[in-house]
Amino acid sequence: MRRISIFGATGSIGCNTVDLIRWQGGADAFRVVALSGGRNIALLAEQARMLRAEIAVTAHEDMLDALRAALAGTDTAVAAGAAAIAEAAARPVDWAMSAIVGAAGLEPGLVALRHGGILALANKESMVAAGALMHRTARAAGARILPVDSEHSAIFQALRGEDSTAIERIILTASGGPFRDWPLERLHEATPEQAVAHPNWSMGRRISIDSASLFNKAMELIETHELFDVSPDRIEVLVHPQSIIHSLVGFVDGAVMAHLGPPDMRGAIGFALNWPQRAPLPLERLDLAAIGRLDFETPDEGRFPAIAIAREVMALGGLAGAAFNAAKEVALDAFLARRIRFTDMAPIVARVLETMTAGHDLESDMPDLDSVLDADRLARARTHEAMSARQTG
Ligand code: NDP
Ligand code: MG
Repeated sequence: MRRISIFGATGSIGCNTVDLIRWQGGADAFRVVALSGGRNIALLAEQARMLRAEIAVTAHEDMLDALRAALAGTDTAVAAGAAAIAEAAARPVDWAMSAIVGAAGLEPGLVALRHGGILALANKESMVAAGALMHRTARAAGARILPVDSEHSAIFQALRGEDSTAIERIILTASGGPFRDWPLERLHEATPEQAVAHPNWSMGRRISIDSASLFNKAMELIETHELFDVSPDRIEVLVHPQSIIHSLVGFVDGAVMAHLGPPDMRGAIGFALNWPQRAPLPLERLDLAAIGRLDFETPDEGRFPAIAIAREVMALGGLAGAAFNAAKEVALDAFLARRIRFTDMAPIVARVLETMTAGHDLESDMPDLDSVLDADRLARARTHEAMSARQTG
């Protein structure tokens, strides 16, 4: 029986993963080793009972008693804290889902890679912050990273059976988010509630807001560069409001392969779950006649500077991805708390990268986990400084 673990099981990606596991036979078809969650103890316990998980782990030590009580009378062990999640990730499995949100997903992903098997990677933050380290770790252990982000799953699928030397360009599609048509003046006033309302995809709160600012696409540009080893000048962003084409690959002969599907993350998760085979999935089928038309436009980098920042990060290399991700997370928290405006996020992140570049804090030939975590911490501190400088200045 295939052994699996899900990190971030109670989130949007985690729930979709649990849904598919259940659809493919649940505890009778998989040996579920570890499930991790955060504050949603009731859901974590329900998932652990249903899938008869060996261990359930919450990220928060103050929630351990609640988790223990919720799983009383079952065979599922319980634990709490970031170190406990990393320990659970060290239990060998054939397939693990990395779906914790934010930089907190990096360590469990790395630990899972060290123990071999497949890592289905939804946590794009770990690729952005530590792509080279993730690849190095996977190679050393004979582990395999499979992309779960819909665009990257699309690219991965379009590249099946192709020689990487035949790739001319990658075209990353973006819905453009809820503010695609908003003029800059109006963007200044955008609220977290408006930003979270994604037109096509139902996702966690943070990635939804990142989609509205195009920071999500910025992260995905870097993720594409890291995952597929394609140079930044060969990666384009194309706004496609219907989110039906999940991305495209152009080849040296001019042919372009597109991946189409309904905007449902279970497509990409299911592909990674069943890889290298394809298996039936409970997805709505595409009805292109009903959709009628597909639109495309160039992203407006004036209103959405995140894309240009991502290009700068790729040019810098080293620890720039780690700093970028951390600064973006702090700026996003400040926007959520209404301490800064929607349009303040990008200039703050750009400022942090500038200061860290000037201080030679981003230089590193072969970043290890400690240097990535140091850059992450320093970038968070610098982002707080940049925000208070704006308030007092
Ligand atoms: P959610 O916010 O819905 O879920 C996040 C999960 O992580 C939850 O299980 C949450 O627990 C847990 N969690 C939160 N904070 C911590 C922490 N500090 N330590 C450990 N666990 C924590 O996020 P999504 O499912 O939307 O996204 C997950 C990842 O997948 C992100 O990296 C995102 O960028 C990526 N992704 C998501 C897509 C989507 O469609 N949602 C598409 C492509 C990529 P709890 O809720 O119990 O507190
Ligand atoms: Mg995506």
